[in-house]
Amino acid sequence: MTNSIYSDYPPQINSAQKEFLVRTVKDWTAQHGLVIRPSPAFISKESDPRGVTVTSAPVTLFPSPFPKACFEEAKALQTVYNKLYAAITCNEKWIGDIMEDLIDVDDFISHLWKVHLAVKEEGYTQTLSLGLYRSDYMAHVPSDDTAPSLKQVEFNTISSSFGGLSSLVTSLHSELLDSPPGHPIAYPSHPLLDSNRPPENTSVETLSAGLATAHTAYGPSKSSPALPTCILFLVQEGERNVFDQLALSRQLTTTYKIPVFRLLSSEIFDHTFIPSSNPSRPLLYRPPHAESTSFEVTTVYLRCFYTPTDYRSERDWEARTHLERSAAIKCPTVLNQLAGSKIVQQVLAEEKGTDHLASFLADTNPAILARLRETFAPQYDLSVNSRGRELALNPITAANHVLKPQREGGGNNVYKEAIPEFLQSLPETEWKRWILMELIQPPAEAKNVALRPDGEVLSGHVIGELGVYGTILWDQAEGKVLQNEQGGWLMRTKAKDVDEGGVATGFSSLDSIILY
Ligand code: ADP
Ligand code: MG
Repeated sequence: MTNSIYSDYPPQINSAQKEFLVRTVKDWTAQHGLVIRPSPAFISKESDPRGVTVTSAPVTLFPSPFPKACFEEAKALQTVYNKLYAAITCNEKWIGDIMEDLIDVDDFISHLWKVHLAVKEEGYTQTLSLGLYRSDYMAHVPSDDTAPSLKQVEFNTISSSFGGLSSLVTSLHSELLDSPPGHPIAYPSHPLLDSNRPPENTSVETLSAGLATAHTAYGPSKSSPALPTCILFLVQEGERNVFDQLALSRQLTTTYKIPVFRLLSSEIFDHTFIPSSNPSRPLLYRPPHAESTSFEVTTVYLRCFYTPTDYRSERDWEARTHLERSAAIKCPTVLNQLAGSKIVQQVLAEEKGTDHLASFLADTNPAILARLRETFAPQYDLSVNSRGRELALNPITAANHVLKPQREGGGNNVYKEAIPEFLQSLPETEWKRWILMELIQPPAEAKNVALRPDGEVLSGHVIGELGVYGTILWDQAEGKVLQNEQGGWLMRTKAKDVDEGGVATGFSSLDSIILY
């Protein structure tokens, strides 16, 4: 049933139609900032030594059909997911018990946990915590006669990206659907395109409202004399996805009139400090371009520090600790980052033993918890004699699974037939760093056409991954939620024969959706 939707979608285009769409998309992306900095594989450092070039972000030419019921369910569950991850973060002991098991085999997790312990020992000075989350899903269609169901790929608690660009793709596709106005002919006529429009996409508004709420909740400057306050975006060196981030900071400066600065994670100690004389530990920022002015940072938004390569030396770990012990509200805290690790998602999905969902969300209607649970795909640990081990080591069952480490940002997983051999190449003591997850089966017949940043146009069978954004601000000491919102979404589409996802990693293209 589901697959028949794609039998003639997207509609065939001839070379003139394709040329028109490609040219329009190229111009539109530049005009509206739907752009990225080019990969050095496409434009080498030598041909652009001063780094002035930007290129179109990878985008699909057509919106992708997505089951309406799955989209509505993802939106309906987002604030429940927000609450769940805030509640997990408030249970330091529960997270600690899980992390304790990993620290002797996973250096990254071990370092993060140590940052938390060090700050805990000194005493946290900020109890408010901000989450800007994205819950990623696929429509699961195991056979042609089953209705699609919503299955979660992963839940992101740090650096949840592409909210700044995804709403632009929605605008791009919406404009093409109505172009020219009154007599739309940009796309060939097709039942899915003639009457459908992508749903509203408020990702920029939602994410920046989350940051603005934290900024306000911080309250007045803790310095004396009082300093002007700001939000600080901490970013990676060589970030190619900078315009996604700028869409959020621009919304904060124009709509909320909040000063926003960007700082490289490697330069934290060069431009921020915590006056030792002030027990409140305000985080002060001195912009390098105006060193006589100091701002007090209300909110630290991390678009870095989610991957081991962001920590080149002990000094970068010290910088993370410096942020964590400051009075700035962290988005996210170390604990909230750890709460988003793959192993937590695996433990939540366990069918036997303690009902973690019910204990974290004790005041939530059991019917809603059951719906949340329905979005989990089976996931397993790899402990001795476990079902996970059995499934992972047998090539036949491994073919229906993905093996994931405790990492973010793409390019880290091992897929299908490669799993048994990969595991056998590792000492058994290290297996607990990984979790095994059953593969979600998106509609097999989905197709689309993508314009890649180097101008190549690819068409063929695709897999779509829907992300839904949510924000939550809570008091970690009291476990009290101050703000909990959902809004905005992201569709990423990749070629079907590619296992990995991710736009920044070069596997996926940004897309939008039309509902069926
Ligand atoms: P990362 O933190 O690296 O983004 P993900 O869990 O999102 O890790 O996995 C990366 C990609 O692998 C996803 O974008 C998706 O394309 C694919 N993937 C992950 N889990 C599954 C799954 N259970 N079924 C199908 N594909 C998956
Ligand atoms: Mg992912």
